[in-house]
Amino acid sequence: MLINLSEILSVSGMTRDFEAALESTSISFMGADYAMEAVKPIHLRLSNTGKKSFRLEADTTVVLVGACSRCLTPVKKTYSLEIDKEIDLESKDTDNLDDYDELSYIKDCNLDVDSMIKDTLYSMIPLQLLCKESCLGLCKVCGANRNTNPCDCPQKMPDPRMAVFDDIFNQFKEV
Ligand SMILES: [Zn+2]
Ligand SMILES: [Zn+2]
Repeated sequence: MLINLSEILSVSGMTRDFEAALESTSISFMGADYAMEAVKPIHLRLSNTGKKSFRLEADTTVVLVGACSRCLTPVKKTYSLEIDKEIDLESKDTDNLDDYDELSYIKDCNLDVDSMIKDTLYSMIPLQLLCKESCLGLCKVCGANRNTNPCDCPQKMPDPRMAVFDDIFNQFKEV
């Protein structure tokens, strides 16, 4: 959903509330795909704070479902998002690199709600999704889920703590 900002930017002191739905149903992060669903409507409040600036407040709850990066079991994560930002479009015109990322979801006087939610999630999603910290992963020999079906195959790295390093190596391989 795009929210046109021209009214908010043109009326001094104006505040408007919006309710938006999430249109995207998935998000990609660090090579992993997650199913994404907003389990609460997205509430937004925009308040004019100047000729080219406004305050952006938004909140919602988003559920992501992705595969555990070791055992591939679906993992569900719930994120409560709260956004409260002062946005100055003037600084977008000048090359203010610090603000550039934050404003990536504002284009041509429109606020892209889906981009804003994704942008916020990028800073919250763990680099590696795990069903549990101690996940033993899949057996490299027979493919069994070693959390639920411990097998007797000889493992190259029998110490589960070493699986952390294994995953790091795998991550570099994929890049
Ligand atoms: Zn797992
Ligand atoms: Zn096995």
